[in-house]
Amino acid sequence: MTERVDCHSHSAYSGHGSGSVADMVHRAEELGLATFAQTEHLVLPEGMDPNFETSMAPQTMERYLAELHEQRERLRKEGSALELVIGIEADWLPGRTDELAALCEPFEYVLGSVHFIDARPIDDSRDLSVWDDYGIDGLWRAYFETWLDMAAHPGPIMCFSHPDLPKKYGWRPSFDAREYNYEMAQAAARSGCMVEVNTAGLRNDANEAYPALELLRSFHDAGVECTIGSDAHGPKDVAANFDDAVELMRRAGYRKIAVPTPDGDRRYVSIDDEGRK
Ligand SMILES: [Zn+2]
Ligand SMILES: [Zn+2]
Repeated sequence: MTERVDCHSHSAYSGHGSGSVADMVHRAEELGLATFAQTEHLVLPEGMDPNFETSMAPQTMERYLAELHEQRERLRKEGSALELVIGIEADWLPGRTDELAALCEPFEYVLGSVHFIDARPIDDSRDLSVWDDYGIDGLWRAYFETWLDMAAHPGPIMCFSHPDLPKKYGWRPSFDAREYNYEMAQAAARSGCMVEVNTAGLRNDANEAYPALELLRSFHDAGVECTIGSDAHGPKDVAANFDDAVELMRRAGYRKIAVPTPDGDRRYVSIDDEGRK
């Protein structure tokens, strides 16, 4: 059986999730995962999230780190087979590379995400007004351009999350979004970062994982390695839809899952035919 991993997850510390860090790690153990990365939302620039509903507060970051180190110590004492990776999901914003490097320094694994256009959320159901101003096509293009900017200046980022996030609400562009696939794949390959199959899309109106098969195929063909994350926002979704993610990776041509390790490196889990039950 393929080793199972989950390299993207949130807890109540996100301000919009549930469960403690300990609850999340216990759930990963219960499921028998080989690797679990907790990747809470990094603190945002002042004023962007005044009530800390989409990201951690600066003082919370320290507690978050301390709790993850406590969990690691507990796992070690108990001789657990679970490898815990101390991660963070960083919002890439234009010009934020240096600040990100400093903020992400204590973390072993850094996801890079574009959730904001002009510092306004694109995937927060409480305020989607940026979609009204840009229009669906305009928003998609602005997203892709910002994403390409991130891939060209990744700073501390090690993996690009949910590369086609704007499909979250099912709002699709009238142009063929695949026109960006090649450019995105080339940019990701040049960055040396990996991408993830993020299964949250299977649980919202996107109705498919991020990224779409053809975009994932472009990443594969460009030599970009790929990992898997549930983007769980509570214990119940840890490792959700893992088998679907493996199937999507296989269809895109991948034969191994890249998995972050606590030393900042990667290891690999085979999803070759022989590994199939
Ligand atoms: Zn995200
Ligand atoms: Zn996330």
